[in-house]
Amino acid sequence: MSESTPPNPHAPASQRVVDRATYDQVMVPTYAPAAWVPVRGKGLWLWDQDGRQYLDFTAGIAVSGLGHAPDAVVAALHEQAQRLWHVGNGYTNEPVLRLATALTEATFADRVFFANSGAEANEAAFKLARKWAHRRHGAGKSRLVACANAFHGRTLFTVTVGGQPKYTEGYEPLPPAISHVPFNDLAAAEAAMGDEVCAVVVEPVQGEGGVTPATREYLLGLRALCHRHQALLIFDEVQCGLGRTGELYAYMGYGVVPDILTSAKALGNGFPIGAMLTTEDLASAFSVGAHGSTYGGNPLATAVALKVFETINQPAFLARVRAAGARLQGLLKALVTDYPQVFAGVRGLGLMLGLVLAEAYQGRAKELTRLCEAEALLLLIAGPDVVRVVPPLIVSDDEMDEAMLRLRRALTSWVGQT
Ligand SMILES: *Cc1c(COP(=O)(O)O)cnc(C)c1O
Repeated sequence: MSESTPPNPHAPASQRVVDRATYDQVMVPTYAPAAWVPVRGKGLWLWDQDGRQYLDFTAGIAVSGLGHAPDAVVAALHEQAQRLWHVGNGYTNEPVLRLATALTEATFADRVFFANSGAEANEAAFKLARKWAHRRHGAGKSRLVACANAFHGRTLFTVTVGGQPKYTEGYEPLPPAISHVPFNDLAAAEAAMGDEVCAVVVEPVQGEGGVTPATREYLLGLRALCHRHQALLIFDEVQCGLGRTGELYAYMGYGVVPDILTSAKALGNGFPIGAMLTTEDLASAFSVGAHGSTYGGNPLATAVALKVFETINQPAFLARVRAAGARLQGLLKALVTDYPQVFAGVRGLGLMLGLVLAEAYQGRAKELTRLCEAEALLLLIAGPDVVRVVPPLIVSDDEMDEAMLRLRRALTSWVGQT
C-alpha cells in the first residue's frame, strides 16, 4: 500500500490501513506486542511499517532457525502450494511420508505423529503415555511427573503439566494426577516416583523457565528411575531441538534416549507444525481413532518442514551452530566480565543462551530488552531475571559483533541511568 493511501473505513479489509493501535481495538488482549509492526524479514533482519531495520536475535521465539524467508524453504513452500495443500487424514501424502522417514532415520524413533504446534505434540505425548499405561498396566498407572517452572504449552493439560501457577491460575479445576518436582533435583524425582507413574516429562534445556540445561546425571537418573518404575521418559524438545543446542536433538548430546520426544518451533521455521516421535512398541498403543488432528501432517506444512529438516540435519550445519554458539557465549561472557554488577553469568547450550542478571538487577530483564529494542536489537527474556539469546542458527560472526555493539550501547544507557 502506498504511503499516500488514506485510512478508509469502507475499503475492503485487505486494503485497510492498520497499525499497532488496531491491535488494541480488535484483538483479544492475550499479548502485549511491541509498539511497531514488522512487515518483512530476511535472514536475521526485520523491517517495520516505517522501514526501520532491526537485528533479530529472537528468531520468533526460537522458531526461525534458518532466519526469515530462507530461499530454499520459500521455494519448497511455493512448489507445494501449487501442488497440494490439504487432503485430510483419510488420505496420506508424499511430503508427510518423506518427513516421517527423515525423522525416524535420524533419531531413536520408529514412528511419528504430526500436529500443528508444540502444545499439541505434547498433548499427544501425554495422551500416548496414559493410553500405553492403561493398556499395559491398567487404569491405576496414570500419574505424570513433571518439573516445576517448566513449559509444555497452553492447552489445559499441557499448561497444567508445565507447573507454572501464573499460567494455570483461574482455569481450575485442573486435570488431576500430575506431580511437580524441582528441575535438576534427582532425589526429589526419586521421591515423587511410584508404580502408578506412567511418565516423566522434562525439557533437556528449560527454555521459558530460564534457559537452564539439565545435567547429564539428572537425565541419566530419570532414565533409570523410569526403567525401575516401568514409566516412560518424555523429552520436550520443542525449543531445544532441531539444531538449537548444536546437536540435531539435545538428547543426542546428552547421550540419554527418551521413549517419546516432541518437536515443533524450529521444525517449520515459522510454518505451524509439531511432531511426536516414539518407538514402534509405544506407537502401537495408539490404534486407529485413538488420536488425531485435522491439519496434522498436511502436505504444505510437512513439505516446508522437510526442507528445514534436511538443511539443519547436516554435519557442517550443526558444526557451525556449535562454533557460533561457542563464539557467542564467549562474547556474552566478556559482557559479564565488563558488567559484573549487572550480570551473574551466562548459561545454556549451543545457540540457546541466557544472560543471568545479578542480584541487584533481578526482575528487570524486560527493561534491558526494551533498551536493546531502542538500539534496534531484538532479544527475549526467559522469566524476569534472564535475557534469552536465541538468534537464528545461521547467525554470522559480523551479526554477533553488531549485536554486542548494540547491547553494549543499551547497557551504557541502562547502567548510566540507575
Ligand atoms: C514453545 C514451547 C511449547 C509450546 O509450543 P506451542 O507451539 O506454543 O504450542 C512447548 N514446550 C516447550 C519447551 C516450548 O518452548
